[in-house]
Amino acid sequence: MTEVADVLVVGAGPSGASAALAAKQADPEADVRLLDLADFPRDKACGDGIAPHTLAELERIGVRAEDVTKGYGPIRTLDLRSPGGVQVLARPHAAMHVIPRTVFDARLVEAAKAAGVTFVKHHARNLEVQDGHVSVDNEHAGKTLIVADGANSTLRRKLGIPRNPDDSLAVAIRGYAPERPEDREDPAQLITMQDDAWPAYAWSFPLADGTGSANIGYGRLRSELHSRDQLEQELTRLLPGQPADRLRAHHLPLSTWRPPQPDGRVLLVGDAASLINPLTGEGIFYAVRSGRLAGQAAVSSADPGAAYRKALHASLGRHLRHTTWLAGLSKHRSAMDAALAATVARPETMHRLIDLGLGDGLIPPRLIPRVLLQFARRRVFRRPARTGSVR
Ligand SMILES: Cc1cc2nc3c(=O)[nH]c(=O)nc-3n(C[C@H](O)[C@H](O)[C@H](O)COP(=O)(O)OP(=O)(O)OC[C@H]3O[C@@H](n4cnc5c(N)ncnc54)[C@H](O)[C@@H]3O)c2cc1C
Repeated sequence: MTEVADVLVVGAGPSGASAALAAKQADPEADVRLLDLADFPRDKACGDGIAPHTLAELERIGVRAEDVTKGYGPIRTLDLRSPGGVQVLARPHAAMHVIPRTVFDARLVEAAKAAGVTFVKHHARNLEVQDGHVSVDNEHAGKTLIVADGANSTLRRKLGIPRNPDDSLAVAIRGYAPERPEDREDPAQLITMQDDAWPAYAWSFPLADGTGSANIGYGRLRSELHSRDQLEQELTRLLPGQPADRLRAHHLPLSTWRPPQPDGRVLLVGDAASLINPLTGEGIFYAVRSGRLAGQAAVSSADPGAAYRKALHASLGRHLRHTTWLAGLSKHRSAMDAALAATVARPETMHRLIDLGLGDGLIPPRLIPRVLLQFARRRVFRRPARTGSVR
């Protein structure tokens, strides 16, 4: 057994790397160790979409946006298509980026190492809570253990916490393909929602790195999925002009079902804590936010579990209630059509919806009456839904 670290983090994805960085930032003298079964750089099935909210969050733990985005251009347009065919071209207040996880995650691990974190290659299989510390496989130990081993977390299972039920678990496949011709001039992140199997959607996210490649993918709820082949077939059907390679699928545990965070020395972050936005499937913002809060709690409290739970609740509690509620409503396709149409006349509504889907925003004021108005336009007055641009 190696010496007991102050903070032991298992999993060096965005949540684990952020936790390690935050712990080191809060206490530069702390011995912080970051374990991962993989060597970095390593791939991770993802849409590679990095929201501006994530970059702002990373700045708070000392990672500069220009360092992490280097080589990948800004994407200023969102091209959203609702299940019923409402199309909105939106210009978010700040640019988005698409950075392959082989690059993005390795940059965060490098930043953690530069801050003094020790990286160790280790495949964690078990944990044991002992007097004053937590040990992993009787080889590594920390006064606090941060569990950041992702969507299929081994350590979460060992803690006796079951995985999400199938209706709060999505599965998505991603690959790399040529970008759409229109992306050469003004690259846009396309999200096309599926009419005949809603809630499900395909995406095409250009890398904007000069190679003409895009990350494309398709995801749906696990409860609505028959086989992995179905994911590939739907992707090809929805984005026929973009033949993809390097296809990989992975689970997304949605935040509509979050495990309890107990008191004590074991803290769950990111996907291991089922922190993925149920409206968009985005999880990197929550990974960095929860990692930061856990890393800070680990070095500053006698009961880090209780401190982290309180901080997470203060930081994301209301937002998570709003996304859960809206995700339930948006399962009705006409509500989704009406919500998108409602943003055309009210750009501020779109900007707030973007904050809700990519960051920690709340349901925009007066969204519900506006959705009802759009709903009535279509259903009662048989008017076509509005389609247009939002700036
Ligand atoms: C197809 C797909 C598309 C997505 N698209 C987006 C997107 O565009 N934008 C977005 O924000 N989110 C997206 N997400 C969600 C996002 O990928 C996750 O929310 C994010 O990766 C969570 O980060 P994490 O650090 O918690 O877990 P991970 O990134 O999964 O990292 C976990 C780490 O733990 C390591 N590990 C696992 N088990 C062990 C073990 N037993 N011992 C040691 N190490 C271990 C792994 O090697 C890995 O490095 C997508 C997810 C999927 C599946």
